[in-house]
Order: sequence, then C-alpha cells, then structure tokens
Amino acid sequence: MSNVLQPKVVIVIFGATGDLAKRKLFPSIYRLYQNGKLSKNFAVVGLARRGWTDDVLRENVAKSIGDAISPNEDLEEFISHFYYQSFDVTDESSYSGLNILINDLEGTYQTEGNRVFYLAMAPEFFGTIANKLQENGLKDSEGWSRLVIEKPFGRDLESAKKLNKELRAAFDEKQIYRIDHYLGKEMVQNIEVIRFANGIFEHLWNNRFISNIQITSSETLGVEERARYYDHSGAARDMVQNHMLQMVALLAMEPPISLTTEEIRSEKIKVLRALRNMDSDKVSQYFVRGQYDSGEIKGEAVSAYRDEADELADSNTETFVAGKLLIDNYRWSGVPIYIRTGKHMAEKSTKIVIEFKDIPMNLYYKRDKDKRPNLLSINIQPNQGITLCLNAQKSGSGSLAQPIQLAYNHNAVSGINTPEAYEKLLYDCMIGDATNFTHWDEVALSWKFVDTILDVWSKNEANFPNYKSGSMGPDAANELLEKDGFHWWDI
Ligand code: NAP
Repeated sequence: MSNVLQPKVVIVIFGATGDLAKRKLFPSIYRLYQNGKLSKNFAVVGLARRGWTDDVLRENVAKSIGDAISPNEDLEEFISHFYYQSFDVTDESSYSGLNILINDLEGTYQTEGNRVFYLAMAPEFFGTIANKLQENGLKDSEGWSRLVIEKPFGRDLESAKKLNKELRAAFDEKQIYRIDHYLGKEMVQNIEVIRFANGIFEHLWNNRFISNIQITSSETLGVEERARYYDHSGAARDMVQNHMLQMVALLAMEPPISLTTEEIRSEKIKVLRALRNMDSDKVSQYFVRGQYDSGEIKGEAVSAYRDEADELADSNTETFVAGKLLIDNYRWSGVPIYIRTGKHMAEKSTKIVIEFKDIPMNLYYKRDKDKRPNLLSINIQPNQGITLCLNAQKSGSGSLAQPIQLAYNHNAVSGINTPEAYEKLLYDCMIGDATNFTHWDEVALSWKFVDTILDVWSKNEANFPNYKSGSMGPDAANELLEKDGFHWWDI
C-alpha cells in the first residue's frame, strides 16, 4: 500500500441529500478509505437545502454504506469526517458560510488546501454554483481545486456550449472533470488494454479483417420514478451522446503514443471528428428510434412507457435507439459500427461484439448456414470479461468444425473487490488524472453528431409504441443489419 497515492482533500458535495450521493458517492468514498486510497486527512462537506445536522448526515452516510456493502469497525471514525451545512445554491450568503467551514476543516484535517467540488445536483444549477464559487474565492486555496460535473452536459450543442462558457468563466478546462461513469467501468477501461497489449488483436483491428462492430447497452428497467427527467431527455441524449459514443471512440482510436491524458484524449477526439455526420435525409436509413409498449419481463407484466405517468400519455420520446455509424478514416472506412440501447428490453447487458471477416474458403462446415465467423465479445456488465469465438474440430465428426468459445470471466477472478466506477473516478479526480473524464471537445463533437438525428426526429411524430417490453427493440433495428447482410450476435 505504501506507493499508493493517498490524497489529502476536502470533498464538497452539492446535493448531499440526493439519490446519487446516497447510492454512489458515500459508498465509494468509504471504499477508497477502506482500501487505503484516502488518507485520514480528509473531510466531506454535504450541502443541500433541508435542515439536516452533522449527525443526521452521518447517520444517512452510515445507512447508505450499510445498504451497499458490509462496513468494518472503522465506520464510526469514517463518518466523523462528514459535516453538513444547510445551503441554497442560489443564495449568495450561503457561500461565505461555506468558506469559513472549509477553512476550519482544512485546519483540523490538514488537507493542504485541496478541494473537490462535486455537483450532484440538477444541471441547471451548475453555472450558478461555478460562478459563486469563483466570486466568493472558494477555489482560490493554497492547494488544487477541481469541479466534478454530472451528466447531462446540456441537451444539445447550443445549451452545452452555454454551460461550458459559464463553467469556463470560473474554472480552467484542466480543473473541470465531466463524469461519464461508463469510463470508470473496469471493462470499458480494458478496451484499450485488450487492443493495444495484444498483437493478435491489434494487427487485425481494421477494415481488412473486421466486418462490423456491434455495441449493445440494454436495460430491463423502465423509467421508474425518473419519468419527468427521462421524458425531457430520451435514449439518444441519455445514452448515445455520452456512453455509446465514448465506447465507439475507445474501440476505434489509434494507439496513443503514450498513456497520458492528453495523448489518449487526442486520439479519441480524432475518432469523433472522423465520425460521418448524417445528412438529415439519411437519418431514417441509419437510425431507428423506439418506445416500449406493455409486455412481460422475467415473467412479470409491465406497462407501456406512455402509461408510466400521466404526463407521458402522448410522449414522443424514444426509449430505444439503434444506429449505424461510419468512421471515415484509413482504418475504418467501410466498417459499420452498429449501436443499440434501450429500456424495458429482454436482458440487462452492455457488451461489444467484434465480428471478423470470413476466411476465403471454409471447408470444415457441411452447410453454409452453420458457418460462424470469429467473434470477440467484450462484456462490460453485468458480466465482465471477454469471449473469443473460434472454430475447432468437433470430436467424432471427422474433419468437421464447430464453434467453440474461449472465455475469461473477470467477475470470477476479482470477486467483490472490483472497484465501482464512481470509486475509480473519484480517486482519479483526487490524484489529478483526467483520462477517464470527458474533455469539452469530445462533448461538443458528440452533440454535433446527435443533434442532426434529434432535429429530424423532433420534426416528425413517431409511430410509437413500436416494441414490446421484454423484446430486443423494434424489428427495424434488426433490419438495419439485415440490409447489410449481418445480424445482432447474442453470445
Ligand atoms: P436528486 O435525488 O433529485 O438530488 C438533488 C439534490 O439537490 C438533493 O440533495 C436536493 O436537496 C439538492 N437541491 C435541490 N435544489 C437545491 C438548491 N437550490 N440548493 C441546494 N441544494 C439543492 O438528484 P440525483 O438523482 O442525486 O442527481 C444529481 C445529479 O446527478 C443530476 O445531475 C443527475 O442528472 C445526475 N445523475 C444522477 C444519477 C443517479 O443515479 N441518481 C446517475 C447519473 C447522473 P434538498 O431538496 O434538500 O435541497
């Protein structure tokens, strides 16, 4: 443990009484502490409007940790580092009180003036908070100050630009850590390693050997109590603009010349720049939108999206998106990257399948329809691992082949010690590693791509609902691949 960096820091959580703080942030900070990735020189300040006290916050922190993991006997000591201040982010006077509290805690815990401001609140407050932190001198400490921003970062390119301008008036790009929690997932981070640490993949990782790439992120859940937020967003904004395009960038980027934040980001940005922007009249050929109807998931009847809440009765919001993406560069020209994501689908799973081109002649199958291309599947969640599908001799069948799988199941090896995405990202932020956070250029290019699609969709009412809950989306999502001679692989 001796060479692990142990940051000294005051973490200020705006929105400490909310869902994200409870489910993700408190358990993650505790895990970092348990694993020796946080020194004893730390304090957490929780802020929100309701009239909690330090003790109420501490009870809630202990409960949320107990609900997520089994705490050790060090829990009491841990929660004693938490402080609460009743705070309205729009009220100027709150900030001077916060400044006094932080200065006090910096003295008590000797945190060397290092501050993380974590905005776990609705995005409409991000600009105001950044501005008031700046005006009240809260980011001018002796150490470093970093601002962590949750998604969504805008709802289109224009609003994202406006938000970015507000943030940049107060913080430098280097101080802004935009969370995309997919980038904290073990197997998403592994994409780079699998590609660039294995000759057997990287030499084949191009349009000469890969026929297509498929990325699926399906959920069985519907919108639950997030109906209002979701209806304002939809699957393209909620999943494609950020998580799906980030996975595309990692899969398609060139090898970086070093593993620094700047080099990796620069390669990802090049991919997003090479992403073929859709002409409006082509959107319907390349993209499919869907909204779930009633159906059955794991034996239970579930309702249609439009029946989930009164305000959704006429909703034109998509709960499913499938698309065909093309990257116009030397490596990827001609290789379709298919993506699909949706709610109320048959299974909860995020995975990437790389389909390799067929060999010129395969004599080991009697019937063409039995032939199976080589596939590499990268399983992100809930299973974590990789599976390679090969062809090998079927015992007792002469020289005939059958598909076999080589599988590495990460869950089985790492067990419960696999760090959660938020835990990793918080730690990265505290040690100043922004590699797995989204740079503004990535945000802007992703919005530019998604805006064209959303613009076309907003002008035409969709024929919703168009897929049954518990299915894998509308038929059109299958036809998207069938037109090109492919189909979605389920391995
Ligand atoms: P939430 O449960 O609604 O929490 C919002 C928090 O903001 C509460 O603590 C609320 O506390 C506080 N708040 C509201 N108005 C305030 C004001 N004027 N001054 C001070 N505090 C105020 O929201 P959430 O689900 O935690 O989400 C927070 C952010 O994370 C959002 O940007 C969301 O999009 C993003 N996010 C959440 C999740 C998730 O799993 N929940 C996942 C991804 C991204 P009071 O009412 O006590 O003031």
